[in-house]
Amino acid sequence: MKARIGLEIHVQLTQAGTKLFCGCDSEYRKYPPNTNVCPVCLGLPGALPVPSRSAVVLALAAAMLLNCRIPKAIVFTRKHYFYPDLPKNYQITQYERAGGAPVCMGGVFEYLDPDSWVWRSVRIRRLNLEEDPGRSIYPEGSILSSPIVLVDYNRSGVPLLEIVTEPDLGSPREARALVEYLLLSLEYIGAVNPRLEGAFRVDANISLESGERVEVKNIGSTIEVERALAYEYRRQKLILEHGGKVERETRHWDAARRVTKPLRHKEEEEEYLYMPNPDLPPVLTRPLLDEARARIKEQPRRVFEWITGRGVSREAAWSITQVLPAARVFMKAVEMGGDPRLLARIIGVDYKGVLKEIDKDVYDPKNWPSPQVFARLSQLVERGEYPLEALTGIVLPRLARDPKSSLQEILPERASGVRELVRSVIAENEKAVKDYFSGREKALDYLVGQVIRRVGKRAVDPRLVRKLIKEELENKRR
Ligand SMILES: [Zn+2]
Repeated sequence: MKARIGLEIHVQLTQAGTKLFCGCDSEYRKYPPNTNVCPVCLGLPGALPVPSRSAVVLALAAAMLLNCRIPKAIVFTRKHYFYPDLPKNYQITQYERAGGAPVCMGGVFEYLDPDSWVWRSVRIRRLNLEEDPGRSIYPEGSILSSPIVLVDYNRSGVPLLEIVTEPDLGSPREARALVEYLLLSLEYIGAVNPRLEGAFRVDANISLESGERVEVKNIGSTIEVERALAYEYRRQKLILEHGGKVERETRHWDAARRVTKPLRHKEEEEEYLYMPNPDLPPVLTRPLLDEARARIKEQPRRVFEWITGRGVSREAAWSITQVLPAARVFMKAVEMGGDPRLLARIIGVDYKGVLKEIDKDVYDPKNWPSPQVFARLSQLVERGEYPLEALTGIVLPRLARDPKSSLQEILPERASGVRELVRSVIAENEKAVKDYFSGREKALDYLVGQVIRRVGKRAVDPRLVRKLIKEELENKRR
């Protein structure tokens, strides 16, 4: 059965620097509860909002990514409802009616489906810029059972993009691919760090053939997007196959149990009493467009195609594209004369792997050595001065621990020098050699140890030493 899936994606502008209408920090997670607040984001009487330039620019850059029509002015709207984490009793958002004007309406977004390497497209209904509410915390049990509720306003007023797509997605996997690609694109323009807890939330709607539309709320990760929709797909298919009728409803995704459940009645649009916000004049977009355009120069698609255009496999290119600092280092290192395929291996596989092994964040640019370092490593391997293994075994782990280390100091002894050392160690350790020939593998360890001791301060890859000793001994045996 064919599915029709549409998404509503909320993305915090975690990198905007400030909240949407005050100077408090947009990255609220590092503060003790209720300390990243001011009269504006607490909704105190008389406090007036001032729109954040950087948030509006980022929203306009996002609108450009989505190929939307951008209006001359954007108009903020009040959306009224009562909730303890919403101190003003209204949220400042955008609305296409009641005199409001969203950042943009009617766009098309192309995203990569890495299952098939096809670029798919989805129509965008609109993009809103709005404020996130505070957080309600239920310390004992759930929203229904906890006898007390704590409210933390640190998040109150953080800029939030609401991106609504048309129901163009054909499968749960496509929905996941779209969200992943969209988040990556927004990360590239410096809008969001999608790995921060709660940086995005997804609501999805799905209908099957003739069935009614069901909305699934509260999806917090890209893998959950796929899981929640796959669950809902199976549930609806089963109902339809048994001659039943799918009810139009809103359901809640329970990530722990991996099921969707019916949710309380949700307010209808007209119950929110939308009205233009009298405290905020319309924001003219024209003076901000150049700044927004400068933001979208770097895009995952361009990077991906730049890399594959240099003979690198799609898999390797995508793996690099997904990690922005890796992509930047890679492109510069290639421009400096490094071999693209070799660098794809060193940067996209080996160095990334080493960082993960020692639990360092691959997305943090501070954990990446300069492009010069990678260009040089590539040249050393190309010229045959070092085998790749010697670099991955010794140099990359050291760089991962200290990306600023100088290559001169950490480059291992060259293979040619090591072979001479190996020969002299073999000549001087007749007993160990005899032991080895009589089948004692341990003797090899001893010889490896001797060579490494002689190399002294400079590093050498034990695997290389072992290989050379074996070669020399096998020659001797003959
Ligand atoms: Zn504030």
